[in-house]
Amino acid sequence: MIQLDNKIANFTNNDIVKTPVQINCENVNIYYGDNHAVKDVNMPIHEKAITALIGPSGCGKSTFIRTINRMNDLIPIARCEGDITYRDINILSKKVDVVQLRKEIGMVFQQPNPFQKSINENIQLPLKFAGVRNRKKLKEITEQCLKEVGLWEEVKDRLDRSATGLSGGQQQRLCIARALALRPKVLLLDEPTSALDPVSTSKIEELLSQLKKDYTIVIVTHNMQQAARIADYTSFFYQGELVEFGLTKDLFTHPEKKSTADYISGRFG
Ligand code: ADP
Repeated sequence: MIQLDNKIANFTNNDIVKTPVQINCENVNIYYGDNHAVKDVNMPIHEKAITALIGPSGCGKSTFIRTINRMNDLIPIARCEGDITYRDINILSKKVDVVQLRKEIGMVFQQPNPFQKSINENIQLPLKFAGVRNRKKLKEITEQCLKEVGLWEEVKDRLDRSATGLSGGQQQRLCIARALALRPKVLLLDEPTSALDPVSTSKIEELLSQLKKDYTIVIVTHNMQQAARIADYTSFFYQGELVEFGLTKDLFTHPEKKSTADYISGRFG
């Protein structure tokens, strides 16, 4: 058994209930030109659970998570092969309606990136773009989403003020609320707390633990304690390969591979 830092050993998922696989990744290979960044990854993503992707910088975590809602399409030299099956479709297929896909599989990035508009507009613009016009409905969804991320009480009196006046942590919760407005099934988060202070980080971790009741969550984190605290499943990536995937508790206490053991015990990375 690996000797772990006490904080890492504080798992939340001792009594995990296994949920069905919602997205299945098979033989996923991703290239940037000649750089083979993600190598033959096979991994399930379980419904209404948190899956963390960990591993040293440059090992392909962001590349992999971005592929799940086709954000890599925006990078001209990126090329993806394999099957990412979601609701009987291959997400990587050219036939997929990417706009619809991103409604169902939303994404939140490392740097909070609210629109430079009012708090209201941050939630309502994507809804209007998706065809919601009814003002009462727009107000209702705004309130509901801000409540879901625990921001309502903090901002209900300043909904018409600029979102850029919020703190970094509040901005990130607003970005999560914006992603939730379109009622996605899956939420992808790429290092969502790495630009935040510890108090804001802890609020986001609590929020994600709540949200997994309703949403499937995939999170990239460079912070192993964070994975141990909130994730039900953890994937360890190294040099583009998925070295090990398993229940977080198993992976941290009984890693099967030596490189996983070396990484989680701080021997590299
Ligand atoms: P991680 O998220 O684990 O830090 P990345 O997915 O960012 O790793 O990077 C994996 C590899 O892909 C690295 O070699 C990186 O240089 C390369 N890469 C990432 N993003 C791009 C990009 N937009 N264009 C070209 N290469 C990239």
